[in-house]
Amino acid sequence: MNLLVNKSENNFEQCIKCTICTVYCPVSKVNPEYPGPKQSGPDGERLRLKNPDFYDESLKYCINCKRCEVACPSNVKIGDIIQMARIKYSQKKPTLRDTILAHTDFMGTLATPFAPVVNAITSAKPVKKILDPLLQIDKRRNLPKYSFGTFRNWYKKIAEQQKTFAEQVSYFHGCYVNYNNPQLGKDLIKIMNSLNIGVQLLEKERCCGIALISNGFIDKAAKNAKLDEQEIRKSVLEKKLPVLTTSSSCTFTIRDEHPHLLGIDNREVRDEIELATRYIYRLLSTNQSNIPEFNNGKLKIAYHTPCHMEKLGWSYYSIELLKLIPKVEVTVLDSNCCGIAGTFGFKKENHETSKKIGESLFKQIEEGGFDLVSSDCETCKWQIEMFTSKKCEHPLSILAKVLA
Ligand code: SF4
Ligand code: SF4
Repeated sequence: MNLLVNKSENNFEQCIKCTICTVYCPVSKVNPEYPGPKQSGPDGERLRLKNPDFYDESLKYCINCKRCEVACPSNVKIGDIIQMARIKYSQKKPTLRDTILAHTDFMGTLATPFAPVVNAITSAKPVKKILDPLLQIDKRRNLPKYSFGTFRNWYKKIAEQQKTFAEQVSYFHGCYVNYNNPQLGKDLIKIMNSLNIGVQLLEKERCCGIALISNGFIDKAAKNAKLDEQEIRKSVLEKKLPVLTTSSSCTFTIRDEHPHLLGIDNREVRDEIELATRYIYRLLSTNQSNIPEFNNGKLKIAYHTPCHMEKLGWSYYSIELLKLIPKVEVTVLDSNCCGIAGTFGFKKENHETSKKIGESLFKQIEEGGFDLVSSDCETCKWQIEMFTSKKCEHPLSILAKVLA
């Protein structure tokens, strides 16, 4: 374990015991079994360093949303402290269910060639009823649909054409675009090409590791992170191409969780990894002539800020990008965790907590009279579409649809 990891491990001394973190923790609000960020983080760390027996398995309730860190006036890395404690001390072994949920690359590779059949099976009520007691995946949960064929396979058809643009960027697409929603990757390429920029994929790409970390597969997450880091270095340092992303959680994981939790030193390339919405907005706002023509009617959009977007501090770019579309009214919803937290909400034991965490967000969405919701996180999309009557689209998919 290197110095980068130790840095976030030891800053519990900065805690001034104000308890603000507890007020902002979405889990503390709804789950009385969770001791909360102050007690699980800095207070608990003091005790655990004296005696690891003070480790408490209730730390598993932390959904690693980092809202406590955003709120903390002393910049205590509370979420990191809790995650590191889980990595170091937890005796809990991942179950078969956790293995399935965590290995998104493996499951995606298996499912995409047979997507129509897999989707039909996993959405059938009798199958869900079997999965519920067997795997402890809640039967009320809608399981994500797979696409028939991957984004990377589709990209092969346009790879040569993308090379013809004088300006280029790299794209870290993540598991969601590759296995579930290739359309989002296609939308990004459409927008970049309209700005005369070609899109390259990294030669190889593995899952950023967010689901592996939260389900206890740290070695596998570190192995993936090492490979991703090598590929990102090739892009940034050798090819001089920034690496764009479309998922706020992948972005946050690669930029911050890799160094803080997995010991990856990414200081040379971290600043060149950014959300495509931020990159595009900066391009358009510095040169108004870049702003494309749009072809759309009136649209009332609610923007939901995902937890990791809150931590990145980049929701401004996605919101302002949406506001560039004429006749679009954007309302920014109160910043509130939706409750799914990656794989957390799929687990039977977390279903009610997951729903309760998101309740005020769902209410705001239903009562606002919006045409649709927009968000930069795929799992927030799943949660919002499951618990409200609205569709949730990525800002870039909305933008791509209305490009003239
Ligand atoms: S990371 Fe989120 S769930 Fe965990 S303690 Fe902080 S606010 Fe609570
Ligand atoms: S908000 Fe920060 S300083 Fe205040 S109690 Fe929580 S960790 Fe300590």
